[in-house]
Amino acid sequence: MITGKRKPLTRIFDMLAPYESVLVVGCGTCMTVCMSGGLKEAEETAAALRLHRQQEGRPVQVKARVVERQCEPEFLETLDAELENYEVVLSLACGIGVQCFNLFRPQKQTLPGLDTWGAGYPVKQGFWQEACLSCGDCVLDQTGGICPITRCAKSMQNGPCGGSQNGKCEVNSENECAWQLIYDRLTALGKLALLDEIRPPKDWSRAHHGGPRKLEREDMQIG
Ligand code: SF4
Ligand code: SF4
Repeated sequence: MITGKRKPLTRIFDMLAPYESVLVVGCGTCMTVCMSGGLKEAEETAAALRLHRQQEGRPVQVKARVVERQCEPEFLETLDAELENYEVVLSLACGIGVQCFNLFRPQKQTLPGLDTWGAGYPVKQGFWQEACLSCGDCVLDQTGGICPITRCAKSMQNGPCGGSQNGKCEVNSENECAWQLIYDRLTALGKLALLDEIRPPKDWSRAHHGGPRKLEREDMQIG
């Protein structure tokens, strides 16, 4: 899932200061699950903004809504009638949702109400582990299902680097060494021989480094 964290309210209040009417829109998928930008958080944000502006003596018209996914234009249609009544949208989706809103509903500016953090999984309640940097060439079959690109501080293709101590990363000792985890997992799977295979330098052209990538599926295209 994509995770994120709502921006500080003071930052949101500053962003919305020029506007008299605001539609706060949550996202019903990832940001609801990570309790950063679902309907509840949209309503809380709207209430905080309303109170702040009352205290300033500059009341604002504000309403909270949620759509299933802001990253798909068909879900934005459900807001079309209401959009006309508001000057600006505050999105509590990830950065993809904010961009889709601006792209597919350009008649309104949509502002980001939260900071997108990354793609990860929950380790325990309220704690997520970043897990995938979308490198475009997945090697999890060779690494026991543990991503060296994301979880190794040096994104090493062949590890460990030699600096880990007691299973911790030399770059940040709060983190486990990814290659220690990979070693342990391959041992448990009986596939330790995979570590003897030297992986060539990574082809980063399949990652983000050449600018935004495009994924094209001709089998899904119509016409
Ligand atoms: S190897 Fe690449 S695609 Fe696979 S989990 Fe890691 S970053 Fe994601
Ligand atoms: S100690 Fe482990 S995780 Fe840290 S940079 Fe070296 S190989 Fe990567």
